[in-house]
Amino acid sequence: MSTRTRGYKILGLAVLIYCLVMLGIPALLVRGCGSDQVRVEENSGQMVRVQLAPGRIVTMPLETYLIGVVAAEMPAEFDIEALKAQAVAARTYTLLRINGKASDRKHPDASLCTDPGHCQAWLSLGDLRKRWGLLAFGSNYEKVASAVRATAGEVLVYHDELIDPVYHASCGGRGTEDAKEVWGQDIPYLKRVPCRWDPPEKQGVVATSFSMKDFFNRLGIAGKAVPASNTGGLVQVLDRTGSGRVRRVEIASQVFRGVELRKILGLRSTDFTVRTTGDRVTFYTRGYGHAVGMCQYGAQGLALRGQSYRQILEYYYRGATVKKLTKAGD
Ligand SMILES: [Zn+2]
Ligand SMILES: [Zn+2]
Repeated sequence: MSTRTRGYKILGLAVLIYCLVMLGIPALLVRGCGSDQVRVEENSGQMVRVQLAPGRIVTMPLETYLIGVVAAEMPAEFDIEALKAQAVAARTYTLLRINGKASDRKHPDASLCTDPGHCQAWLSLGDLRKRWGLLAFGSNYEKVASAVRATAGEVLVYHDELIDPVYHASCGGRGTEDAKEVWGQDIPYLKRVPCRWDPPEKQGVVATSFSMKDFFNRLGIAGKAVPASNTGGLVQVLDRTGSGRVRRVEIASQVFRGVELRKILGLRSTDFTVRTTGDRVTFYTRGYGHAVGMCQYGAQGLALRGQSYRQILEYYYRGATVKKLTKAGD
């Protein structure tokens, strides 16, 4: 190799190093100087792992996930303030589970699932197109998304801790229920409050009827002699909760809790009366759901009466307040 060739090689190497340095340093600078910004973006762009079906887990941005939750959990025709209240409740519920403060033994690899009986309902864009139809999809989606955007980063706290903001469809106009009556645990922000704003059709009774045989089979007391429908009847309500719902009943000498009976029979609520006629037992229920926390139809009623989402939330979750989460480093 001649001296001249070696010179070119060294020059080439120098140019290469120069180029690398010139390209590399700005990249490092951008990364270095921008690290705070990146962290803030990651914080506001929080991701959530959701189990769509056993073995099928997806990761998506929290705020995108919340649109699918609000759309699944509340009719899009509801007032924007009711939708905002739902968005804040759903965000709080989700963050509590991302932070691992609530049990998720059913799906240890995901913070939440889409089973409304376990976590909260969620619908994909495809599901929502089917539910709303192509014509209404655009405006409905935008309305729900605007409720999520308008409350971005807002959560419900009690003494600076995220609350567990459970909610139900309709209290039937009876008012909400104490958490203690349903889950046996006293939760200061889940106390019963009056609610008179459910629409009349939600305050009416719904009949659910069983044949005697089916009724006793479900209760696991098949074969028991059916008592003659004498005084008190087949199902005797032993006592009621403070809100007036059924706390305990006696059926063929066995005592059941109201919430237990609701689960066994698939009743809409524990706010019921019972009638026995011939071979049938009929339950007349009012409202829909466990009745604890925010009443969704009540929230809609309050929104229509001019209440803001904050007023609605702070009404149903007594002592809790809406707070905007601060970003890391604030
Ligand atoms: Zn779940
Ligand atoms: Zn209500």
